[in-house]
Amino acid sequence: MGSISLQNVSKHFGAFKAIPSLNLEIDDGEFVVFVGPSGCGKSTLLRLIAGLEDVSGGKIIIDGKDVTHASASQRRLAMVFQSYALYPHMSVRSNIAFPLKMAGLEKAEIDRKVNDAARILNLGDYLDRKPRELSGGQRQRVAIGRAIVRQPTAFLFDEPLSNLDAALRVNMRLEISELHQTLKTTMIYVTHDQVEAMTMADKIVVLNRGRIEQVGSPMELYRNPANLFVAGFIGSPKMNLIGGAYAVSKQAATVGIRPEHISWSREKGPWSGTIVIAEHLGSDTFLHVEVDDVGLVTVRAEGAFEGSHGDRLFLIPDETKLYRFDKEGIALSP
Ligand code: ATP
Repeated sequence: MGSISLQNVSKHFGAFKAIPSLNLEIDDGEFVVFVGPSGCGKSTLLRLIAGLEDVSGGKIIIDGKDVTHASASQRRLAMVFQSYALYPHMSVRSNIAFPLKMAGLEKAEIDRKVNDAARILNLGDYLDRKPRELSGGQRQRVAIGRAIVRQPTAFLFDEPLSNLDAALRVNMRLEISELHQTLKTTMIYVTHDQVEAMTMADKIVVLNRGRIEQVGSPMELYRNPANLFVAGFIGSPKMNLIGGAYAVSKQAATVGIRPEHISWSREKGPWSGTIVIAEHLGSDTFLHVEVDDVGLVTVRAEGAFEGSHGDRLFLIPDETKLYRFDKEGIALSP
């Protein structure tokens, strides 16, 4: 079991209220991603749950038990950091076995658990190597292995992939998702990468300045962002946010439209503009177009798009896919 409940949780550093007051329910077995810009309080919140920081106020309940003042070890949570935190002089086997040895388990039991973790993580061939003889991805798998053997109530990941190169990040992302499907243990995962959040989460918690902006499934946040902050944060490339006369004509302070909901034409269309940059990604082309009377607009075009800086182009926004926001940035009903 691994349900986690945060009730009016706050954290102050001196006069600075990093987390003013926050409520959140995490269900047993959920994969929850905390996402938000640098400094929004993601790591602080994770460290409060882990018991690595004391709360300034409020309660933390794990599996129905109040653990607000319990030590980190009493909470039976496993934390995986971006820095791996492996023991350099120990083999992979000893690194994974370490928490079990500390807990006083018998050798046969330790061997069985280490072998199980190694099998799940494809580390079987590396058990006798030292961390320095492994790639970054393999090291991260060892760190995860060391967490798995403890059979924690929940796994807490703090930006575990940020030291890896782009291709490896994608692989490890899939591996962690598979691991969640295998173990079905609650996982909380901190990242500032909204693609990781979208692809891994059952539930995304969008944080901004220590407050929750919105909680929901990836598609809920993509389809129905509650406000401008979430609208601008979820989705890649970012939603176009347009103010001025165009918004006023739609009875809003700001109108949003996603790059994938704008098509283009060489002949005609409601918007005309000039390509500032065409980014060719192979599968897609992202066009950044300066539209007359509207401003800079990003369009997702097909990979075969031919055109470049300076070309004139007409754009056709799909009017059924517009988002409208009031002057406080709150989403208006369609
Ligand atoms: P990043 O993505 O950059 O790691 P984050 O969202 O994880 O950011 P936190 O590390 O949780 O952000 O920090 C939240 C806020 O609290 C920041 O403004 C940070 O400067 C502040 N903060 C964190 N730890 C301390 C501390 N020990 N003392 C004072 N301020 C702190």
